[in-house]
Amino acid sequence: MKIKNIKAHEILDSRGNPTIETTIVLESGIKAKAAVPSGASTGTKEAQEIRDGDQDRFGGKGVLKACQNVDSVISPALTDKNAEDQMKIDKIMLQLDGTENKERLGANAILSVSLAVARAAAIKKNVPLWKHIVDTFSLDRNISFPIPGFNVINGGAHSDSGLDIQEYMILPVGIDTFEKRFQAGSEIYHILKEDLKEKGYRVAIGDEGGFAPRLETNQEALQMIIGAINKSNYELGREIKTGIDAAASEFYDTENKTYDLALDKSIHSSDDLLEMYRSWIDEFHMEVIEDPMSEFDWDGWEKCNKRIGKKVAIVGDDLTVTNKKIIREAHERNAINTVLIKVNQIGTLTETVESVNMAREFDMKIFLSHRSGETIDDFVSDLAVAVSADYVKFGAPARGERVSKYNRILEIERSFQEYE
Ligand code: PEP
Ligand code: MG
Repeated sequence: MKIKNIKAHEILDSRGNPTIETTIVLESGIKAKAAVPSGASTGTKEAQEIRDGDQDRFGGKGVLKACQNVDSVISPALTDKNAEDQMKIDKIMLQLDGTENKERLGANAILSVSLAVARAAAIKKNVPLWKHIVDTFSLDRNISFPIPGFNVINGGAHSDSGLDIQEYMILPVGIDTFEKRFQAGSEIYHILKEDLKEKGYRVAIGDEGGFAPRLETNQEALQMIIGAINKSNYELGREIKTGIDAAASEFYDTENKTYDLALDKSIHSSDDLLEMYRSWIDEFHMEVIEDPMSEFDWDGWEKCNKRIGKKVAIVGDDLTVTNKKIIREAHERNAINTVLIKVNQIGTLTETVESVNMAREFDMKIFLSHRSGETIDDFVSDLAVAVSADYVKFGAPARGERVSKYNRILEIERSFQEYE
């Protein structure tokens, strides 16, 4: 299963920005490709994606240098290597890069190859990608399907709604198959759309396919969602819960150590903010709160997990950035009980799976995630199934680059019996 050649190209992501798509060709003639996503509200310790900075092309966001790194540095080093040997291939790329943050070759360049290699090997073995990942990393074969967190209202860096909270999610926690969870998400999404229209709000959408209404307060988004769930055929609290990704680093004032909710015209200490979350948990039947505090406010995180971590999933995203060292620190400080996993925050498939394994050892739940800038590549869906993620989020149950991922999990669920 020798690698013959690897070639990267610039394509566009769902925001119309350039990203990398890499094609790998094996000696047998098998071809596979993978495309990498990109975030808008990124943690400062994420692996570095390389952008050209040439203002004459795509406003500086071109990725030709990263493509060049794939073609002229990574491809020659991996030619003749066995595509089935994922760990070795990822290790070679880490050594070639030689930096802590992958800033030399670019996490976007490295990740595109890492994912394409896995896909090529799966095709060669004639097994589904999720199964190949299970076998490659000796993962638990007792697969369970995740609870999706559908992001139905978009705020923060993902829309011009003016909402400070970045994501408002619905989670079908009490529904037994992924297919029925998906149906619930779609039905409630459409009820919400009608409710927003009825109230005179616009139903334009944000980067992740959720609505971007100009509401009066941050809390009103939760009230609208609860209203839609109550009108649906599903039972609030038992079958459907809600969640948020506050992405609080985005509204944290590092100098004053305060949280500025501009829409609500209120400025909070971490204690105040925590009390606001605490009151929301029961009132709005919350299941998860992601990035409740800023990545620079570890004390706030510790308090949060201690005071409300028994009731909701306290999810580290910008805080932990899929990085083992930081996940360990979060464990030692008891700052989270759930970890968000994003492949491009760390940059290789091997390191991603290692982060998942470490988080499991620490009894954390796994929340597998897309990015706000996406392509139709559905690799993360297979990865989510392979690691039996507790939750996944791929945005709203709408827009091609979002539903491609939900649809892929449906496809895996439907064909699952064959592989049990
Ligand atoms: C997130 O913050 O969880 C997210 C998906 O957004 P982004 O990709 O912009 O970081
Ligand atoms: Mg997040």
